[in-house]
This record gives sequence, structure tokens and C-alpha cells, in this order.
Amino acid sequence: MEKEKKNIAILGSTGSIGTQALDVIRANPDTFAVEVLTGHGNADLLIKQALEFNPNTVVIADESKYQYVKDALQPKDIKVFSGNKAIAEVVQMGSVDMVLAAIVGYAGLESTISAIKANKQIALANKETLVVAGALVTQLAKENGVNLYPVDSEHSAIFQCLAGEFHNPIEKIYLTASGGPFRGKDRAFLSSVKKEQALKHPNWDMGAKITIDSASLMNKGLEVIEAKWLFGLATEQIDVIVHPQSIVHSIVQFTDGSMKAQMGLPDMKLPIQYAMAYPDRIKSDFPRFDFMKYPQLTFEPADTKTFRNLALAFEAMNRGGNAACILNAANEIAVEAFLKDKVGFLEMSDIVETSLQKVSFIQNPSYEDYVATDKEVRVMAQEMIKHSAVKK
Ligand code: NAD
Ligand code: MG
Repeated sequence: MEKEKKNIAILGSTGSIGTQALDVIRANPDTFAVEVLTGHGNADLLIKQALEFNPNTVVIADESKYQYVKDALQPKDIKVFSGNKAIAEVVQMGSVDMVLAAIVGYAGLESTISAIKANKQIALANKETLVVAGALVTQLAKENGVNLYPVDSEHSAIFQCLAGEFHNPIEKIYLTASGGPFRGKDRAFLSSVKKEQALKHPNWDMGAKITIDSASLMNKGLEVIEAKWLFGLATEQIDVIVHPQSIVHSIVQFTDGSMKAQMGLPDMKLPIQYAMAYPDRIKSDFPRFDFMKYPQLTFEPADTKTFRNLALAFEAMNRGGNAACILNAANEIAVEAFLKDKVGFLEMSDIVETSLQKVSFIQNPSYEDYVATDKEVRVMAQEMIKHSAVKK
């Protein structure tokens, strides 16, 4: 009997994760089909993808490009909608089996929650969803019997190490970090770095926001919080270790002291494919690891004095409530400003730290509280950026 294909909704299909997910689907046309594609501004790429993969529905978030996309897809009879509300609605379609949440930032929260409420399986790339509202999102997933399959490489590694071990308690996990392009640098150096330097990641080719987060170690901070929620861990159970080669993607240590690591060349297609095909492994032609090219795998502590974002993320996680939502919103605004040369590299942490101090703390936030917090922080952070010392 022919196996049924899994119908996937790819949210953020025009991004780095989205396009790599489509590579995986292109290579496995008997296993996966594309049901929904969504993008924000890159209408031409979204149209090209729709013409190739022939989804049921396409959503362009930027409403000004709706007519353009609609006209292009009319002959193919593909439904076209626009706006973020539409993304949150189409994920609930009966024909969707799994939602790949690959929108970047807070913008991905609403559609992920909507998909969980409609009992869709989730392949989760959008880590900010768990950073902003981890308590709410994991609670909803539990209530609706929805699994959150991690796409983030470190969390996929932990998840792969846990296969067959879900009944065994975790003692701790080690999230590996490449250290980014500025590993080993001091604050004097960092005070004058520009976006062109920060955008050059040594091992991974990713979207602009996560690349800056990787350079500032905020990405690892967000991943610590993501791991807490995905695997139900306490602060003391999460450690970060810098591993510049990005071959060991993360490690689980069990209560008998045994450690399991997942390894491989840095290639996001592998964790994307694992999340989409779970519990199966699909044969791939991704390049294989060659020991002779990596005679040494090295490990060193993270420098949280220089890269304060990682310490701030731990602090926000420990405070709980809406603190990580504050951290995330301030960071999104700070990164956007850094990418426009409006603030310096180190100022990004200042904006996050000040926001954490000033925005009112809510112990048990509702969804509406998260929305309000996010809004409040963005306004405050923009104000700080106006007063930045960086020459405009
Ligand atoms: P990206 O910037 O390359 O792509 C983002 C996608 O989201 C695009 O399709 C864009 O059109 C869409 N988008 C952006 N803003 C939107 C909005 N306001 N409304 C609707 N859609 C919007 O980002 P990426 O690198 O693919 O990252 C996506 C997510 O995956 C992030 O949360 C990131 O942290 C996570 N992630 C990425 C990687 C990677 O290798 N790129 C690795 C691990 C985790
Ligand atoms: Mg990662």
C-alpha cells in the first residue's frame, strides 16, 4: 500500500529554515507534500516556491503585496491570503498534518499557538515562541496532545539522544555553542564591530537576526530558555559549553553519569528532516563527517563577562513570569537597530538589561499580558535607541 504523504504547512518558507525545508521536501516527494507556504516580504520567491510545490494555500504577510501574489498564482488555482491573522487561520485547515514554525521572532507566536490549538504536530524552529511564552505554549501543547519537535540543532540533538530514554531522568544537558565570529575578543574590540563583521558566522549560514544573536551569544541564551521548556529542566540542569567546530550538537547526561551526544556536520537540513520525519530517519545524501578533517574537537567555557546576553538570559529565565518576554522584545528591537547601524554591538545588551529593570514584572502572565509586555518593551527600547551615542 502506498504510504500517505505528510502535508506540511511551512510558515516562513522564504527564510533560511523555510528554503532548506523545501530542499528536504524536494528530495523526498513521496514522503512530504506542501499544503501551505507563507512569507513576509519576498513575494517573488514565495511565488516561485508556490509554482514549484503547488500548495493549497499561500499567505503573504505584507498586505501591500497581496494583489501581486494573487495575480501570479491565479492560473494555478492556489488560494492566496495576506496578513498575519490569515497565517494563524490557515494553519488550522483540516488538510494540514504538521506545521513547520519557521517565522523569525515574536511574529511567529500567534500562528504557532493557533496550530497547537488545532492539534497540529509542530516542527519548531521559531525558538522565540518558547522564550516569550514557554509556560503557556507547553501547557497548550500538553492539553492538546501536541508534540513540539525541535528543529534548532542543539535541541534536535538532545531530542535524538533521548530517543528510547524518555522514561529516564536527565541529570543535565550541555548545549554547545560555536562562540560565533567574536569568540575570544574583548569588550574594547566589540565596542566598534560593525554588522558586516557580525554577519559572518564561522559555521552556519542563517537569517540575519539569528546570525547577530549568535555573534552576541543571545542565541545561546534564547536556546537555554527554549531547552528549559522543551525538556522540562531546571536552571541547574542546563549548561553551555563553547565548541568552535560545531560537530557535537549537544549532550545529555543521565543520572548514572553516562553522556550521550549527537554529532554531525553543521547542516540544518538534518534537524529539519528529523523533526518532519520523526520517528523515522530518512536516507540522505548530505555530506558525511570525515575524522581526518577534524583531528581535534575542542571545548571551552562561555565568556559571560564579555558576552553579557547569555547571563541576562539566565537571569530572565530564573525570574520567570514575563521576564523572558521582555528580554526577547528588547533584543529584537536592539538587533534591528544594530542592523541599521543605529546602535553599537555592546549597546544591544544595555537595551536588554535596562528593559529587564524597567518593565513591570508579571508573575503569571496570560496571552494578553505577553502581547502587552511585548508592545511596551518595543516602545521603550525604541526610545533608548533614539538616545544612542552611535553617530547617525
Ligand atoms: P529568516 O530571516 O531567514 O526567515 C524568516 C522567515 O519568516 C521568512 O520567510 C520571512 O518572510 C518570515 N517573516 C519574517 N517576519 C515576519 C512577520 N512579521 N510575519 C510573518 N512572517 C515573517 O530566519 P531563519 O534564519 O530562517 O530563522 C527562522 C527561525 O528559525 C528563527 O526563530 C530562528 O531563531 C530559528 N532557527 C534558525 C536557524 C537557521 O539556521 N537559520 C537555526 C536554528 C533556529
Ligand atoms: Mg541552535
